[in-house]
Amino acid sequence: MRAAYCELDKWRFDPRYTQGTCPICGWAPEGAPKAPRWLAIANRVDWELLGLFLLADALIVFGLVVAHAAGLLPAR
Ligand SMILES: [Zn+2]
Repeated sequence: MRAAYCELDKWRFDPRYTQGTCPICGWAPEGAPKAPRWLAIANRVDWELLGLFLLADALIVFGLVVAHAAGLLPAR
């Protein structure tokens, strides 16, 4: 089900982009999705934790680069 029709307002809308409700009166069609599929997946990811791990990875890489340039790593 893509589009929903609000009889009260005579208004056709896509519940995926209106949090699953009619944007005028707030009527919620039965079984309407609250978000598009990509947004539902993106909302499930913890972006702050992911960013923290990526930052930690980047800092380790930069640290290795600096240590290599400063000659702190054991020579092969
Ligand atoms: Zn309505």
